[in-house]
Amino acid sequence: MFATARTHPGSNRDSSRQHNLSTVLRLVHSTAGISRAQLTRTTGLNRSTIAVLVAELSQLGLAVESDLDTAQLHGRPSIKIDPSPAALALVVNPDVDVVSVALVSLGGHIVNTVRFHTVRAPSGVEVVNIVTAVYSGMRTSLPAGHRVMGVGLAIPGLVRTDDGTVIEAPHLGWQDEPLSSRLGEALGLPVFTANDAVVGARAQAAFGAGRGVADLLYLYGGASGIGGGVISDGRLIRGAAGFAGQLGHTHVRTGGTACTCGSSGCLEAEVTRAALIEAVGLPSGEIENLEEALLEKLQDGSSNDELCAVISHQIGLLAVGLKTVMSLLNPSAIVLGGFLRILVRAAPGALEEALAGCGPRRPWENVRIELAPLGEDQILIGAAELVFEPLLADPAGYLQGLAGE
Ligand SMILES: [Zn+2]
Repeated sequence: MFATARTHPGSNRDSSRQHNLSTVLRLVHSTAGISRAQLTRTTGLNRSTIAVLVAELSQLGLAVESDLDTAQLHGRPSIKIDPSPAALALVVNPDVDVVSVALVSLGGHIVNTVRFHTVRAPSGVEVVNIVTAVYSGMRTSLPAGHRVMGVGLAIPGLVRTDDGTVIEAPHLGWQDEPLSSRLGEALGLPVFTANDAVVGARAQAAFGAGRGVADLLYLYGGASGIGGGVISDGRLIRGAAGFAGQLGHTHVRTGGTACTCGSSGCLEAEVTRAALIEAVGLPSGEIENLEEALLEKLQDGSSNDELCAVISHQIGLLAVGLKTVMSLLNPSAIVLGGFLRILVRAAPGALEEALAGCGPRRPWENVRIELAPLGEDQILIGAAELVFEPLLADPAGYLQGLAGE
């Protein structure tokens, strides 16, 4: 959920109808099975207004009212409302050896996933061809009445916000790739594109460890570095060109290791998955087992001085980077995904300890450190949020625009 809801967000004025429809749909999207009574309480709107808004959302094909709830509330049965399983986003996540294509329904449920493996990094045109073929197959198995609202595209690279152009995706070998417009033309659907770590932050905020947290810092560590997303006061910070959240390039060590960005001592140059893999001694074919292998090695009783030194060094520098970002943003929770999650699990309490001890009333005091759930699916669920966000902001208006395309 990206709208802040610290006070009653609803309004009983007619002029705020779109706002109210949006508020109710956001609640239905984030809380499946929410009751009319809960909607009334949370929004501050009266019962009859809620009934009208829910009926409108049902007519638009965005919400489904269930039969009477078996739970009794103040002696009265309450009707439950779910996001419509027929309201869908097509999501696409191209990577070096696989193009993941999925349908995700409102409420963040993955309906269908196809992982199309490639022998080498696909070009933009190849991604379009793969997605067109996969989507065509998926559509045939969908029940009648389904509606695909748009395409969410998660890219392992830098994406320009205004037109969705991939400025640079080094691991795919792409530069200035207009995949967003290519896909839009091929499928006849609006396409929303973002960096994959940013998309992961959206998923964590909507359905994961950052759910309901208005000020959230998300960091994801992968093979190619550390990315992230910042949610401040309920909104994802994008920056002037959409490049905000490049937390991997936070400076953590003077005279440190050279970074791919041209600088040195960046967080992602110092804190790397490769160093952990080397210290564990994991063969290249078993990298997926890093978490298990690392925890096993730490527990097997043999000397692990080198591994412990690497973990300690990485956690220390991660804390340095986090303090800088936290001083700036004052988040209430930090969610760590990918190998950063493994790093923290390897030394329970060490990151909290490194963040503490700097005096009271600092921005890094009392912050909650969470390890990211949702696994690989977070990218798909988060990419669907790219599509659902404009729909949630103006449900009727977005559908009207879709019909006119
Ligand atoms: Zn850098």
